[in-house]
Amino acid sequence: MNDHRVAALLLPFCLAVVPAGAQTPVPIRDKVAALLARIEPARLESDVRTLASFGTRHVLSATDSATAGTGAARRWLREQFEACVAASGGRLTVRLQEATRPCARAGLPREIPIVNVLATLRGTTDPDRIYVIGGHYDSRNGREADGAGAAPGASDDASGTAVALAACRAMAASEFPATIVFAAYDGEEQGLLGSAAHAEELAKASANVDGMITCDIVGNTLGMDGQRHDSWLRCFSYAPSGNDSYGRSMARACTFAAATHVPGFTVKLIFRGDRYGRGGDHRSFFDAGYPAIRLTEPREDFSRQHANVTERDGRPYGDLPEFCDFAFMANVARVVVATLAELASAPPPPVVQSAALLRDRYDTRIAFTLPAGVEDCEFVWRETTAPDWQGAVRRTDVVVEPGRRAGALSAVLPGVVLDDMVVGVRSVGADGSRSRVATPPEPDRAPTRTGSSSGRDR
Ligand SMILES: [Zn+2]
Repeated sequence: MNDHRVAALLLPFCLAVVPAGAQTPVPIRDKVAALLARIEPARLESDVRTLASFGTRHVLSATDSATAGTGAARRWLREQFEACVAASGGRLTVRLQEATRPCARAGLPREIPIVNVLATLRGTTDPDRIYVIGGHYDSRNGREADGAGAAPGASDDASGTAVALAACRAMAASEFPATIVFAAYDGEEQGLLGSAAHAEELAKASANVDGMITCDIVGNTLGMDGQRHDSWLRCFSYAPSGNDSYGRSMARACTFAAATHVPGFTVKLIFRGDRYGRGGDHRSFFDAGYPAIRLTEPREDFSRQHANVTERDGRPYGDLPEFCDFAFMANVARVVVATLAELASAPPPPVVQSAALLRDRYDTRIAFTLPAGVEDCEFVWRETTAPDWQGAVRRTDVVVEPGRRAGALSAVLPGVVLDDMVVGVRSVGADGSRSRVATPPEPDRAPTRTGSSSGRDR
């Protein structure tokens, strides 16, 4: 019997027990499964091939051609995002963000015009809380200032752009309490120009960006060692003030979503903002004070990146679509969609005031406040040296009492020895979705020269 027939048989019982007017939310597990079913490797392949077919998408390339250069690429991207508007019931809006950015690099103009393509899926009940998924649609070859020569940029970064587009196609028809922005950034290769314009615009408006993901170089799985690396993905995150900063909590939200919704595919946490000497669009959001992570293929082929298209041993060479693994890219898109769906469906994270080890036994008391209207939460903990959460318990399974201040709560976690552990709490929505984890301040944060504690954290 298929699921629909089971649902049809169960429906009278559901109607009998649910009071009139009350709505039973679709469990997040079912909601995400339906979203992930909309991700197609063949569509990712055709998108990467189309982006590569513009010849180059260099920030200084042609803007007036219908078939080649950055202008044609962004007009095509805009059309693709706009094709999702109808399914969204008007909640998705698409715009071009145009700006002129300073550039200090030798051989390049002092000022470079950029155009980002931004599709915003407005949240239903908490639209001021924003999540951003981006890839950079610009490309380059071996010469940084070459706006004319071939630069297919298939893995770097048509792949990430196609993932952002796939996420928009999968999610546009569904409702989420929080807002999601799907971005195709310009001018990444000349110093993160497009993402900096977007992050600065959001910061200037005091926007509440609760998480940003950039997918950059997510197309290749054949390592230079000749091995296929297609069952995992790297997640880089900046940490302004330790392993439990907001950037790391965003990274752990990604591992949680992958483990929950994308079985057989692993997200590897790397406690570093980016690779040595490299950068990406998440840096722009980090600099603006927002939690941001970078997803990148496991083993890059450096000989193809920023390479000129040529032949070697009679075979094509360069950052070409034929070297992309579209089944792998589909898994990257699934991780992204699962992470965004969990966070945008969930309530905002709680606020943790403090944590203390009880003086008469080895239990931890955590003092926290839940966002208005939120009833449920989950406590998590791990060894200080463990990369990810090791234990979790729901609110209903521990003793939770009112705290000293109005609205504050206090919970006791039995057997959790705070001095050796990190504890945290995340909000749980009525559909079971989880927010980012909030943690108490570390006890040994050092004062700075100015006498204030070292916190960009929040
Ligand atoms: Zn890139």
